[in-house]
Amino acid sequence: MRKPILIANWKMNGSLHSNQALLVRMLSKLRPFRKTMDMAICPPFPYLFQVRDLLGYTGIALGAQNTSRASSGAHTGEVSATMLQEMGCRYVLVGHSERRALYHESDRDVAARFRLVCSANMAPVLCVGETLEEREQGQTMAVIERQLRAVIGETGMAGLVGSIIAYEPVWAIGTGRTATPERVSETHRAIRQFLESCQAGVGESIRIVYGGSVKAGNAADLFQSPEVDGGLIGGASLQADEFSAIGAAL
Ligand code: PGA
Repeated sequence: MRKPILIANWKMNGSLHSNQALLVRMLSKLRPFRKTMDMAICPPFPYLFQVRDLLGYTGIALGAQNTSRASSGAHTGEVSATMLQEMGCRYVLVGHSERRALYHESDRDVAARFRLVCSANMAPVLCVGETLEEREQGQTMAVIERQLRAVIGETGMAGLVGSIIAYEPVWAIGTGRTATPERVSETHRAIRQFLESCQAGVGESIRIVYGGSVKAGNAADLFQSPEVDGGLIGGASLQADEFSAIGAAL
């Protein structure tokens, strides 16, 4: 059985003041779900310390939104995986489509980050997904397989064990558009089949979450399929009521 997981990606939002208010409200609302699912909050780097302290012993994990593809040294402005691990992070997003598109992270860059996150004993949350154009050309699985192969080439299948895959169609992120629940379910199944074809057992055991405009109003439909093991939530994770209602739907 795969345990469901709900991950908040705050992106570049928040302040010391607003984080505190949001988390205090969120923590009381999330309390009922703590036993039935894993949860993680991924704030911007400067707030990791604050969020770690507020999460305390709630059982809700700390995560980061990215890490450097270098392990240490002369890389001004970068944050290494070992630093994140030291700060208490359990999860690190890698290959988010905003990183791929706006900061030109290639499949190889993403794979290098993935490996460093694994080496630092954290779980990478590997974001994969197609653009609208790729989808219209029927390229969805070809794109996702390419993104997965880059990681497999770097870590072998062993790296995927214990990691999480987030299927996030690029055209659904922050746009208010979501893939249909059927489409999400089919894509998750196809990802599992691809991984099973690489190594039996991996596809069935890996957690695959959906991300892209998940809200309280569409979460139950999107999470209905047994193929969907949870959500990676952007905009709606900045509102305690909305995020906890998504948790209730999982
Ligand atoms: P969204 O973002 O929920 O705001 O669409 C999801 C994500 O980028 O992970």
